[in-house]
Amino acid sequence: MLADLHTHSSRSDGTTTPTELVTAAKAAGLDVVALTDHDTADGWAEAAEAAARVGITLVRGMELSTKYDGHSVHLLAYLPDPTYPPLVAELARINDGRTERMPTMVRNLQLAGHAITAEDVLAVSSEGAVLGRPHVADALVRNGVVASRDEAFATLLGPGGVGYVRRYGAPLQPTIDLVREAGGVAVIAHPRGRGLGLADDAIAELSRHSLTGIEVDHQGHSPQDRAELRALAADLGLVATGSSDYHGAGKVDHELGCNTTAPEQLERLLDAAERSRLASGRPAPAVLPA
Ligand code: AMP
Ligand code: FE
Ligand code: FE
Ligand code: ZN
Repeated sequence: MLADLHTHSSRSDGTTTPTELVTAAKAAGLDVVALTDHDTADGWAEAAEAAARVGITLVRGMELSTKYDGHSVHLLAYLPDPTYPPLVAELARINDGRTERMPTMVRNLQLAGHAITAEDVLAVSSEGAVLGRPHVADALVRNGVVASRDEAFATLLGPGGVGYVRRYGAPLQPTIDLVREAGGVAVIAHPRGRGLGLADDAIAELSRHSLTGIEVDHQGHSPQDRAELRALAADLGLVATGSSDYHGAGKVDHELGCNTTAPEQLERLLDAAERSRLASGRPAPAVLPA
């Protein structure tokens, strides 16, 4: 039983549509796939339709932009009710922050002499997609400014780069609670990921509140990171997940199924989600079986 619990479609910064993603997941031999676009549930309906057609189990999720101690942390939210008003409001606030920073990013890049316009960014994005730095990167690639997303992040879009502009992130602990109130469960994405990490003592603190799991097997984690995080999860009673963080052509070496979640860990995660759903009283979505 192969489960990949963290993927992105063109509803955020992936390069494949939800339909293409789900179809590719089936072709890759996966039994379970989670769609976890950044800060949106927009791809869920299309993914659900495709999953039913190709015969793969779908876990509906999202990857929320949060802040802890002033730095960015990505939080995977599985099976929350996407209509829960406080969640809708928080997603709107996050995405307003994305929209507001975009003109500043473009202007700062222009002032530094780089060829890019707001229209260029929209031209490389799907209509209505949650816009991020990867779309700016794709526009810079198309305009011949850089050769790849990686180069764009390394030279212009990372912290300290001329195109870097901070944006709003939701406060981490309250957002974990929010996900639970919406009937879902929360998992810290890539806690040892570059620039998006979370220290072990912070994970321990969150585990005493409402955190359900941590992503252990991720391409951003070394073998030693994985071993240490697996032990930490076991110590704290947290679910340990593994995922590709697939972005289509947008991230190299993140192919579907390159990391997977063990069946017993998936079962624990889904049991916790079911308990959360029942406790919340929200009409949270169920897993869509193959
Ligand atoms: P944003 O949310 O707009 O600040 O952009 C952050 C996103 O950029 C993350 O979700 C990553 O998936 C993506 N990202 C970060 N670094 C890179 C990189 N070197 N190459 C491709 N994508 C990246
Ligand atoms: Fe991303
Ligand atoms: Fe992430
Ligand atoms: Zn991701």
